[in-house]
Amino acid sequence: MSFDFDLLVIGAGSGGVRASRMAAAKGAKAAVVENRYLGGTCVNVGCVPKKLFVYASEYAEKFAEAKGFGIDGELKSFDWPTLRDNKTREIERLNGIYGTMLGNAGVTTINGTASIKDVHTVTVEGKDYSAERILIATGGWPFKPDVPGADLAITSNEAFFLETFPQRVVVVGGGYIAVEFAGIFNGLGAETDLLYRGEQILRGFDSGVQAFAAEQIANKGIRIQTHADIEAISKNEQGELVCKLNNGDTLITDCVMYATGRRPMTDGLNLAALGVETRQDGTIVADDFFRTSVPSIYALGDVIGTPALTPVALAQGMKFVGQQFDNDTQPLSYDNIATAVFCQPNIATVGLTEDAAAEQFAGDLSVYESSFRPMKHTISGMPERSYMKLLVQTSTDKVLGVHMVGADAGEIMQGLAVAINAGATKAVFDSTIGIHPTAAEEFVTMR
Ligand code: FAD
Ligand code: NDP
Repeated sequence: MSFDFDLLVIGAGSGGVRASRMAAAKGAKAAVVENRYLGGTCVNVGCVPKKLFVYASEYAEKFAEAKGFGIDGELKSFDWPTLRDNKTREIERLNGIYGTMLGNAGVTTINGTASIKDVHTVTVEGKDYSAERILIATGGWPFKPDVPGADLAITSNEAFFLETFPQRVVVVGGGYIAVEFAGIFNGLGAETDLLYRGEQILRGFDSGVQAFAAEQIANKGIRIQTHADIEAISKNEQGELVCKLNNGDTLITDCVMYATGRRPMTDGLNLAALGVETRQDGTIVADDFFRTSVPSIYALGDVIGTPALTPVALAQGMKFVGQQFDNDTQPLSYDNIATAVFCQPNIATVGLTEDAAAEQFAGDLSVYESSFRPMKHTISGMPERSYMKLLVQTSTDKVLGVHMVGADAGEIMQGLAVAINAGATKAVFDSTIGIHPTAAEEFVTMR
């Protein structure tokens, strides 16, 4: 049977672009369908614009820090449209690069919304395309809880394009996006409240990291309320948003941002009719070879419920192509995925949390912990502190987890992730000569 394409990918995000490009590089006839923006979430409304905003949000504090060094700079103003529009121009430049890259690789880009008609046919804007393999890489979409007035609130999608910069913001959630955006809004000068429904923000991170980061974030001026949630949002006569909280309080604000998780984007794909199995949360069930319950239909990236990180989607795209168009018979390993939260200061982590390590290696765990004032702040006068933790299996000396809260933790952790992946022991850390004076050298001097 002959098909228009060997591989037709739905979604030109992190995973879809990588899979279609690499498949084409292996000689496959590949196409990718996209209905919104080339580069997907990460490039357009995720990692990239977020990081640009994070950079912007850190300047005000740098002016304050500089005084102790004898430099008297003054923050005169912040022009939101300049930041927003420069960011958008940069993203448009990246969109163009993605288009060129796909074209040069020989991938056919099809603009429009895809629906799967049958196991070998995808319909885009009324036109049918046949493919030997269909790969779903449609990512996720922000979820807002069903609260009266939730339509008055934004999500991260809209935060990147706000008409005016709000003076007061309430961020709901305690995960990556909530914490990062609270830092962005606060750093850019908004009065920022962070409401989290549970006991401690950043659930799933090492408990030492959670507590330390929450304290640092609060020290930056973000008002964190735990066990707090919005029961209803309304607009008053002045156009302000009035949030009724579950604890009886009322918060009046200019902007409410829900960062309450993301849901898989499978709208209109026709999965149920085709018999593609999904879980309760809507994610597609895919095995180690990205096979769904329907032969010839594959899925990867955020839509399959694996860690929602761009490098994971990229690695899956590479793996999928290796498995389908090369001789790779191995599954992707999800062990030791390093990750960072770009709040102030950064959080970064690789490997097990202390709780997980204590459960797996009960009675066989050594914990090394350190908290200190970074050298810069001895003169800047800022109260910011850093935290580091190493978790080591006592009997084998193997380092099981590395955690940090501190400036540039995201940059520092990448190299340590390589060491952890290589199976480094504490003795290897200890025998490594440090780089002085850095914060990172603490990782090789912890005793
Ligand atoms: P996506 O990148 O979401 O791509 C899916 C694509 O499919 C989209 O372009 C969509 O328009 C398209 N699509 C959907 N349905 C259809 C259809 N029916 N027809 C045609 N096209 C369709 N990760 C990190 O590693 N580091 C970070 O710093 C980071 N920051 C983030 C910040 C924010 C605010 C957000 C929201 C996410 C962030 N992430 C970060 C997560 C990262 O963006 C995602 O894990 C990654 O983009 C997932 O890639 P994907 O290929 O699965 O899907
Ligand atoms: P997360 O799953 O990380 O966090 C969602 C938060 O919202 C949790 O604190 C959760 O609470 C809370 N929540 C969920 N439902 C409700 C509700 N109904 N009412 C009130 N609170 C609720 O999702 P995010 O949206 O922050 O981010 C999605 C994913 O994107 C991340 O998990 C991450 O994988 C990726 N990402 C990565 C980044 C990076 O690498 N730097 C940056 C941004 C996103 P609870 O803890 O109780 O469940």
